[in-house]
Amino acid sequence: LEPKEEFVHKTLATDVMRPRRSDPPLSVVTQDGMTVEELEGLISDTSYSGFPVVVSPESHRLVGFVLRRDLVISIDNARRCQEGIVGVSRVIFTEHTPVEAQGAPPPLNLRAILDLSPLAITDHTPMEITVDIFRKLGLRQCLVTQNGRLLGIITKKDILKHMAQMANRDPDSILFN
Ligand code: ADP
Repeated sequence: LEPKEEFVHKTLATDVMRPRRSDPPLSVVTQDGMTVEELEGLISDTSYSGFPVVVSPESHRLVGFVLRRDLVISIDNARRCQEGIVGVSRVIFTEHTPVEAQGAPPPLNLRAILDLSPLAITDHTPMEITVDIFRKLGLRQCLVTQNGRLLGIITKKDILKHMAQMANRDPDSILFN
């Protein structure tokens, strides 16, 4: 995101965030409730760089953000080196590791790879401010919430595409540069 280029359009975070209405829903990870093989499935079925971690799929309360590459490395390591980790092992991101029922495999706690304070903005945040935040904080992505509920995600590439689109649609804006 070039710092010299002014962003002068009146669009909002909701206009840029994914998923769009026609897209499949946001791919999220729940903080306690997915298995190793479910996470491996999510990793092979999608190509996103990361996943928001939420309290539950129903609440969509944001807990943090986990990078795809950290998930891949940690699961791979645990599979190879950690006693008892199998496909049906529970993966948790909570502070305390719950005691599993007798006979169940030990859980895998991945809190160490969780970013606990990912940047989040509301869906009404003007893109002019959002672009500024991305530039100043050097963000790769940020999450979008509405009344504390996770709604979507905006990546740097989404912003670049949006800027290109706006520039085409509204040639007058060049006057401001
Ligand atoms: P990039 O935008 O740099 O290609 P990604 O591969 O992470 O980065 O994202 C590709 C597209 O998918 C972007 O439009 C982004 O907004 C969206 N996206 C990113 N993460 C998720 C996710 N967990 N669930 C749904 N969509 C996502």
